[in-house]
Amino acid sequence: MKAFHRQIATYLSLILMTFFMFFSSSFAEQISFEETVEAESPSLTHHLKEVSLTTKMLDGFSIEEVPTIYLTFDDGPTRFTDSIVQILDMLNVEATFFLLKGNMINYPNVVRTVGEKKHTIGCHGVTHTVEDFYKDSMSPVIEMDDCNEELQRITGTGTKLIRVPFGSYPHLTPEQQHNLHKAHYIYWDWNVDSHDWRKNGQTPKQMVHSIVSQVNKLKKHDTSPIILLHDTKMTMEALPELIHTLQELGYQFKPLSLEEKPLQFQLKNTP
Ligand SMILES: [Zn+2]
Repeated sequence: MKAFHRQIATYLSLILMTFFMFFSSSFAEQISFEETVEAESPSLTHHLKEVSLTTKMLDGFSIEEVPTIYLTFDDGPTRFTDSIVQILDMLNVEATFFLLKGNMINYPNVVRTVGEKKHTIGCHGVTHTVEDFYKDSMSPVIEMDDCNEELQRITGTGTKLIRVPFGSYPHLTPEQQHNLHKAHYIYWDWNVDSHDWRKNGQTPKQMVHSIVSQVNKLKKHDTSPIILLHDTKMTMEALPELIHTLQELGYQFKPLSLEEKPLQFQLKNTP
């Protein structure tokens, strides 16, 4: 009986020792990790925070399930496009630029820079006026061909990805839509408007706030946000905070591509 008790006591002490070793080692690891973080520079602490955010994001979703957001910049290039591209590159974000022919002629080097990165370039036309762009059934195709030829001349590559000025609603007619389709153009509208085109005294902070609240509304409908932006000073100033906020919400950024089903408004007078 005594021998039996001794055996039990030995087992118990073995179990206790194992527990003690396990906890003391993880405790030590924790202390040394925290000490390392505290001892390091603030930038490393920030980096570690970012790493843990990414891990959390990847833990929560499989790669395909990470929600995607599309930043689209219209009416460029302008004198702000270069800085916008630099910010995007620094933050490792890819976006889409819908360019106008006249502005490409003014800033050919910027067009080449955008093209050399992984951003997508699309055409936005030539005149950018309702009267001319939507003049007749073929005018949208003629403007996009013209815009496309300029892009081809500057970068060596054309595109079939377009955005019609002011969006397809209410100006694009079913006939114009049909002709664009026949010419193999694929047009994209948007579902989040930054209102950066309004001269209404909106601050960059207010702009970020408005975009994020529109993005949150779309979450309930399970729709990828396509954000309408322009190559303006305010957009350039709002961009770092906008990207950071959306990343914290768990979004990844992608440029638009011809492979995806385009988001298009319902045309006027169609069922
Ligand atoms: Zn435009």
